[in-house]
Amino acid sequence: MVAVEAPRTQFQSTISTREQILVRNPVTDDILGHIEAMTAEQVQAVVARAKAAQPAWAARQVKERCRLLLKWADLLWKHQAAAIQRIREATGKNAFGAWEEVAVLDTITHYYANHAPQWLAPQTRRSVLPIKHTARVYCKPWGVAGFITPWNYPLLNAIQDMIPALIAGNTVVLKPSEVTPYVASFAVDLMHEAGIPRDVVQLVYGAASTGAALVDSVDYIAFTGSTATGRRIASRAAERLIGCSLELGGKDPLIVLADADLDLAASGTLVGALENAGQVCISTERIYVEAPIYDAFVAKIIDYAKQVVVSPAEGMEIHMGSLTNDRELERTEAHIADAVAKGAKVVYGGKRRPDLGPRFFEPTILTNVDHSMKVMTEETFGPLVPLMKVRDAEEAIRLANDNEYGLSAAIFTADLRRGEQLATRIDSGDVNINTTQWTFGTPSLPMGGVKNSGMGRRNGPEGLLRFVRPQSVLVDNQLMSKPQLSLYSPFNIRVAMLLRRVRRWLPMLRI
Ligand code: ADP
Repeated sequence: MVAVEAPRTQFQSTISTREQILVRNPVTDDILGHIEAMTAEQVQAVVARAKAAQPAWAARQVKERCRLLLKWADLLWKHQAAAIQRIREATGKNAFGAWEEVAVLDTITHYYANHAPQWLAPQTRRSVLPIKHTARVYCKPWGVAGFITPWNYPLLNAIQDMIPALIAGNTVVLKPSEVTPYVASFAVDLMHEAGIPRDVVQLVYGAASTGAALVDSVDYIAFTGSTATGRRIASRAAERLIGCSLELGGKDPLIVLADADLDLAASGTLVGALENAGQVCISTERIYVEAPIYDAFVAKIIDYAKQVVVSPAEGMEIHMGSLTNDRELERTEAHIADAVAKGAKVVYGGKRRPDLGPRFFEPTILTNVDHSMKVMTEETFGPLVPLMKVRDAEEAIRLANDNEYGLSAAIFTADLRRGEQLATRIDSGDVNINTTQWTFGTPSLPMGGVKNSGMGRRNGPEGLLRFVRPQSVLVDNQLMSKPQLSLYSPFNIRVAMLLRRVRRWLPMLRI
């Protein structure tokens, strides 16, 4: 079957008229292959197999499921060179960026394997009638959990939420991005090789309609992607009354206070803004610098930007690779043009690098920016570093919060206590002090957004417990039980009054 390619306006992979999706290397434009979009019926058949396999998977010990996932993590670690190659050819990112995906996924797997057995164990809770009643909560998996994931971290974002879902006893169906399907299939093949049954982890391929069919069939949906699609998925999930978690867009602020170490702040800002060429939901996208150090900071960050190595070459020392899609490239240029038309200055970069590949773009530093410009208000997903001068920390916090998104944030300061206090005043899911994005690399910390950045949390106990429904079980131990048609008796009333006094006057007993 010959795929007929649609005009390449947005992605380097496009849907043909015969529902075939071509997958390309964004650096060479070579075709990596094509996938056929699965129909709703095909998706339903996959989910039915996942449903059938779920009780046996849930019946295994939590520790056994953890053991299999650790075995998979070892296989992935062993085959990391192949994983890195697949990520690079699918996205055009630098080798270290691809390695980070493997490393963070490995850390997350170890974290959950070490903690999940304890968090999923039945919990005994206080009962109203101690001794007589035993109250316990059991963690039951939802059943089949669905995952819809994006192209920017085709390994990490595709798999990271599946780990806790599987450990919790769900079977999973993943629809990876149509732009980067082969990275996910590589990781899932290794899961099967590790001994996880085929029907426990399955893939479906396709774009929006395949994703929608998945939302319509599963018992829980975890989505990572754009805010517009997240909204559609949430309303579809609401119709079906299934749970969902949404990790969506961001426009992350970074504040540089006057007491900050300028070298650390300037280099750290570039790390946050240029990671994956800025194509990260938690990318540093707008920078507020206190007036007294503004000029010195601008000079410093230009110095560091000159040292950034942009290249398609192999080698862990390359700082930045290509953008993945035409859409991001065009939006990056549009945001620069909009800012310049409104008075911004490009003080470094600002151009494509066709000599390196069709989708390479220079790290670009802008000054004289303000909130009338798209570059300070809308998500760019490109290697832009817009710097805005602010009067003081108060103005920085106000501007940081003046946005529809609230995913991550950063503050650079020498006063760690003050930094932490200011952090809690930022409307975001997390804040890094004197670094960027490390909250995401720390699996014990819940990660997710407020406002239009989403709902629900990945990582931490929160990221595991979203994949279970608590089931409460109360046992009457039949102490002094006798047949009765009402709970009323003078004795019961006396017991209730006594318990009330105990609760009020002896709160330390916590009954
Ligand atoms: P981006 O293209 O910027 O990654 P999207 O939110 O469009 O952001 O895509 C993220 C994932 O959501 C991809 O796997 C995509 O195929 C899927 N998707 C897009 N539209 C829908 C939809 N209406 N329903 C379900 N999944 C969708």
